[in-house]
Amino acid sequence: MFNPKKFKSKKACVLGAGKSGQAVFELLEQKKFNVVLKNTEDDVLGYDFYIKSPGISFNNAVIKKIVAQKKPIFSELEVGLAFAPNGINIIAITGTNGKTTTTELTSKIFKQHIKDKKLKNSVFTCGNIGFPVSSFATKIKKGDFLVLELSSYQLEDSTYFKPTVSALLNITNDHVFHHGSFSKYIKAKCKIFGNQNKSDFLIINQRDVLVKKLTARAKPKILHFAMPKKLTPPKIKGGHNLQNAMASYQMANAMGISISSIQKAFDNFKGVEHRIEEFAKINDITFINDSKATNVDSTITALKTFCKKENKNIFLILGGKDKGDSYKPLKKYIDASIKKVLVIGNAEKEIVRDLKITNKLVLSKTMEEAVNFAFKTAKKGDIVLLSPACSSFDCYKNFEIRGKDFKQLVKKLSS
Ligand code: ADP
Repeated sequence: MFNPKKFKSKKACVLGAGKSGQAVFELLEQKKFNVVLKNTEDDVLGYDFYIKSPGISFNNAVIKKIVAQKKPIFSELEVGLAFAPNGINIIAITGTNGKTTTTELTSKIFKQHIKDKKLKNSVFTCGNIGFPVSSFATKIKKGDFLVLELSSYQLEDSTYFKPTVSALLNITNDHVFHHGSFSKYIKAKCKIFGNQNKSDFLIINQRDVLVKKLTARAKPKILHFAMPKKLTPPKIKGGHNLQNAMASYQMANAMGISISSIQKAFDNFKGVEHRIEEFAKINDITFINDSKATNVDSTITALKTFCKKENKNIFLILGGKDKGDSYKPLKKYIDASIKKVLVIGNAEKEIVRDLKITNKLVLSKTMEEAVNFAFKTAKKGDIVLLSPACSSFDCYKNFEIRGKDFKQLVKKLSS
């Protein structure tokens, strides 16, 4: 356990100078710790304890050396939380897909609750969503709500983390390269409820066979995805978003939030940018940005949302940096509902190998080429969907920039 008093006199090294590394470094400096901020390429041996950024794998040679020296390695999350007071409400969300959407929606509900009840508490939305806990740690007060999006990377690094309410949305194969195997990825995800006790809550989808099996012996009270009939779900497309809303409802329900506050939050929720985002209609052609679909499963989710059996009306922009997933599961949706697959990025070879539907594949060198082709070929009622099933790192710094590029190119067409 990271005990600030115990570690104050020790030499600390924060590994990884990204957002969370920077945040925890600044927090420790502010608290007058003897701390340095380094990257794994630097000379990092000889410190008393380490705070590892989630992006650095335990397979990294430097981390292996530190582990062999039996030096404590903490997560940014746990160090940040160590500076927060007791008596805060931690609502933690993980899963392979749906984390950000569910975190945003849950946070909206808690904010509405505070407003409706005229409470003086605050809601902090943080974690993997882009705002490290360490940047808020000193502002959190007793009774406040922390709505935390947690990745498997952050959970893998945590040992003592214990939320009041947790949600494990789903688990499918992803991030195996970072963790080393699917079973290690699963183990990391299960840490979200590993320290919870009988008075805590765990929200799961009872239809997810793997999650159900993994949580069969969990200590917290389990609430299944559900929602009372009198609630109207948010107006965002897709069965997956209904599941996300049910998870959010149950998290709020566990904390005793009223139906009327939940309904107001649902009514105001318009979804999150880059997630099945319908952003333009030009000449009756609908353009959808799902740049956040960085694995095959989330692209399938998008296709399930828009595929109509009788109607082959989708131009799918697919590709980017290959993550080693098979693209074969996409084939049945492509056969059923897709006019053309516009392949972009480095994954071209793997996509062609797995899909073998050459009459539907159009190899596009760039996003611009794909957008122009779709625009020229599409007819009234068609859909142009960017849902790449790959990460963006071959051509873009992140999926947000990829999504913005797509939207800008479409905008250019309409002007
Ligand atoms: P995450 O933060 O876990 O990546 P997001 O909320 O950002 O999840 O959604 C990313 C993509 O994952 C969406 O565009 C959608 O295609 C897919 N998705 C969202 N929610 C779910 C869900 N509950 N089950 C399966 N896929 C989902």
